[in-house]
Amino acid sequence: MTGIDPRTVLLLTGALGGFMAVVLYMLRRNYPPAIKGIGEWALSMALGLVAGLLFTAVGKIPVLLSVTLPTIAYLAAAYISFMGTQRFFGVVPKPLPWVIWIGLAVLGSTWFLFVDPSYSSRLRLNLVVMVSLFVAQGSLIFQRSRHSYAGRIALIVLTIATGIHLMRLVSTFFYPVGSNVMDPSIPSVVYITVYSFLVPIGAISQVIMATERLRTELEHVATHDSLTDAYTRRYMNEACQRELERSARHGREMSLMLLDIDHFKSVNDTLGHQAGDRILTEFVAGIRTQLRSADLLGRFGGEEFVVILPETSPEVAMVVAERIRSTMADRAGPTVSIGITTNQSGGDTVDSLLARADAAMYRAKANGRNRVEVA
Ligand code: GH3
Ligand code: MG
Ligand code: MG
Repeated sequence: MTGIDPRTVLLLTGALGGFMAVVLYMLRRNYPPAIKGIGEWALSMALGLVAGLLFTAVGKIPVLLSVTLPTIAYLAAAYISFMGTQRFFGVVPKPLPWVIWIGLAVLGSTWFLFVDPSYSSRLRLNLVVMVSLFVAQGSLIFQRSRHSYAGRIALIVLTIATGIHLMRLVSTFFYPVGSNVMDPSIPSVVYITVYSFLVPIGAISQVIMATERLRTELEHVATHDSLTDAYTRRYMNEACQRELERSARHGREMSLMLLDIDHFKSVNDTLGHQAGDRILTEFVAGIRTQLRSADLLGRFGGEEFVVILPETSPEVAMVVAERIRSTMADRAGPTVSIGITTNQSGGDTVDSLLARADAAMYRAKANGRNRVEVA
């Protein structure tokens, strides 16, 4: 005897789970639909509440309602939570093997309830299924999100959950097991109590995971152009300022490139605005293949783009620009005129750098377009 009543613990866990279900449901309603999986997490918590309530009624209502149904509900809850995590990370759930696996466990449980009554066999079956779900979910989070704060909390929760379930599994071979979930033995109470703490913490880690995702998405929207996914003008101005300061501090060169597509107006006029949009998107994708990962590409206006090349001399910038120009010229679409410039040791500002690149770009236009000019 431990002094802790499993029934009270189950009821409290159920209540906390129900509360977290409401929190997650509100999150699902308020967060952008692009963040997937929150609805499954909420449903999983709600099912957990149902399971908890029914389990506590054991002995008072028929076993079909107090054992079989909550067993199905809580195994389904664990699977639906895993499914939510899959959808959250953009993995398409493949439920069939899991439905079969859980279905077999439920069939086994039913067998050990009505045909060959044995609580320890039922318990072991459920524990094994739960562990398999924790491991599957944990490995997905480990692959996708182990470096994030929320991912780490979720991993700790899943690791402890796996541990406590395995402990309970092992204990069934050494300790006498009671007749149902209200088993007041120490392994049973420790298991139920630890798990009851993990349920709300797990749900909180899901809330934080969704919030981290929301912040990332908002940051992306705020810093990226919606058509081409290049950086916005405002972001490029700030990045240019940062890069200028860093270059001045370390006495390094940085180059800047302004690109303007030639006669783009006539592209729109002859092929239509949508074709023009597609060409802009392809243009950005094409330039990206010519840049290093440290280079920053932004859309400055309609068909005008800017590239910041950190730690790049004018000679190297010229090679990069020429490569972009010739790639565009080799394609069927419009050509591009490029102006490049490099920071001067006297202390450039963003404006002075841009003004020089702009002057060089206009010289490229004036000299016949499809050219690179340096200033
Ligand atoms: P130049 O060689 O002198 O640069 O000629 P241009 O026609 O490219 O120059 P101008 O700046 O006069 O025209 C730019 C055109 O780009 C005008 C506009 O129709 C088009 N444009 C700007 N933004 C977009 C966009 O988001 N989508 C599409 N399809 N076209 C755009
Ligand atoms: Mg143009
Ligand atoms: Mg233009």
